[in-house]
Amino acid sequence: MFVNPYKDCFEKKPLKCTFHTHAGTGPGTCGAYGIDDVLALYKELGFDSLCISNHNLYTDPAEYEKKHGILLFPGYEYTKWEHMVCLGTDKVLVPHPETMAPLEDPVTPYQAAIDGCNADGGFPILCHPNWPVEWALSKGFLSSVHRMRAIEAHNGSCGSNAWDHVLSGGRLIWGVGSDDFHRWWNLARSWNVVYADRDKPSIMAALKAGAFYASTGLALQGLTLDSDKISVEVINPNDYRDEFNFKFFGADGRLLKEVNEETATYRLKGGEKYVRVEVMNNAGRKLYTQPVYDDEYLSIEE
Ligand SMILES: [Zn+2]
Ligand SMILES: [Zn+2]
Repeated sequence: MFVNPYKDCFEKKPLKCTFHTHAGTGPGTCGAYGIDDVLALYKELGFDSLCISNHNLYTDPAEYEKKHGILLFPGYEYTKWEHMVCLGTDKVLVPHPETMAPLEDPVTPYQAAIDGCNADGGFPILCHPNWPVEWALSKGFLSSVHRMRAIEAHNGSCGSNAWDHVLSGGRLIWGVGSDDFHRWWNLARSWNVVYADRDKPSIMAALKAGAFYASTGLALQGLTLDSDKISVEVINPNDYRDEFNFKFFGADGRLLKEVNEETATYRLKGGEKYVRVEVMNNAGRKLYTQPVYDDEYLSIEE
């Protein structure tokens, strides 16, 4: 049966969230500005929640959360050759965290960090699969690690080839938008719109259920599954009218349908393992929906 993760979403007020932010100026931060200055920028842009995710370094968010009124998740960016935001944990599980050098066996320690993050009730996110090179997270690596919950569908560049690779293997993971803030020009390149109450347990539960989408500037107004028909409605919040390019993708990243309209529909033909939608306007602003998926084929890995 096909499942629509947005089924109960649209009566909730959407929250603006980002989970991959470098802040502070000490070792491991990779940042250039103080934490208070960075949080003030996000507050001004209307963000409800974020995570200070420095390299192999945990930053206790408690005092900053109180000061800035933004919900701050604990977390860090696992950093060797492969990177991962371990969202929702305060334990840094990185071999030799002081060096970023690649490991001879990257899978075993990476898996330990994923499992540690999950054990803390967290949400491990594979980062920038095409940075610094295309398929930096190789197909072999992606197939060897398990129980990750999400991947960056957008972080500076598009990561959906790697996302499709994992989905096509029957493992349900969600697509996240991250600006990977280091310098001011990275600010709000992409983020997540999460359908949840404004508290951390609700946001975490919504992330795990795929009740969110990744955006670089467009807003999802509706995504319905009515019998075999998927309908998608999008707006550009900064313009009263816009035209959009809708691309419906299925297993192995196959383009199932492309239309240029204000809204779009796709009829399931049977045999699609999943259908996910990427939308772009003329100015290049994008939105990535989570997949509507066949639960006989795709499931979250236990
Ligand atoms: Zn990184
Ligand atoms: Zn980063």
